[in-house]
Amino acid sequence: MGACFLFLGTGGSSGIPMIGCGCVVCQSDSTLNKRQRSAGLIKVGDKNFLIDVGPDFRMQALKHRINHLDAVLLTHAHADHLGGIDDLRAYYFLEKKKLACFLSQQTYDEVKFRYHYLLNPNAEGKSFSAQLDFHILPDDFGSFTVEGIPIAYFSYSQQLMKVTGFRVGNFAYVSDIREYTDQIFKSLKGIEILVLSALRQVPTKMHFSLEEAVAFSKRTSAKITYLTHISHDLEYAAANALLPPEVRMSYDGLEVPFQI
Ligand SMILES: [Zn+2]
Ligand SMILES: [Zn+2]
Repeated sequence: MGACFLFLGTGGSSGIPMIGCGCVVCQSDSTLNKRQRSAGLIKVGDKNFLIDVGPDFRMQALKHRINHLDAVLLTHAHADHLGGIDDLRAYYFLEKKKLACFLSQQTYDEVKFRYHYLLNPNAEGKSFSAQLDFHILPDDFGSFTVEGIPIAYFSYSQQLMKVTGFRVGNFAYVSDIREYTDQIFKSLKGIEILVLSALRQVPTKMHFSLEEAVAFSKRTSAKITYLTHISHDLEYAAANALLPPEVRMSYDGLEVPFQI
């Protein structure tokens, strides 16, 4: 079955341009250097699965006319991946039913702490906040089915934050990865298209460098890897020139087909 992945946003936590920054990347006229906060949309037929709901989600949904969602998959609870969660209420207004949201226990605990009102609708059972049907992923590695589509998930971390990656068919999304165990490669076995985060040219405490991302992708069966979660350190064309042909920079609006 044919499916595709749409890059809604490919920037790091500040987005590009970063507020107040005069660097060449932030000042670039190229749309390839304009990056909203990282998120993506998996499209399978008329089913839409959103990965992450950052602070730019509303603009992403308007730009790409995302008028229907079947589920939300959350990687982790950092603000650049979660800050737009209130805007999911639009889907409740449209469809009059709770939107399924898949996340780890740790991510759920953070959501509960920061967005307590999402979990406490008022006495009539109605709320002006997003109406979400939370599904906590029971293990570090596993799978579930939503709307008839099998989705595998796997865990890794970014300092103390647990992060969840997702796989559908021959496609996998691995963002905000810093520490991982070899078990991740079992989950990624047989993938052909990989989305992987790399923030800067050099490694940071939270993110892979370009070189680390290339090394990680080489340990998988990916035929093509697209880098995401990119900072203003990396100019699109200049960074692509540093990368092998099977690892490419992504950009906002890029759409890649894959198979289930
Ligand atoms: Zn992030
Ligand atoms: Zn800049």
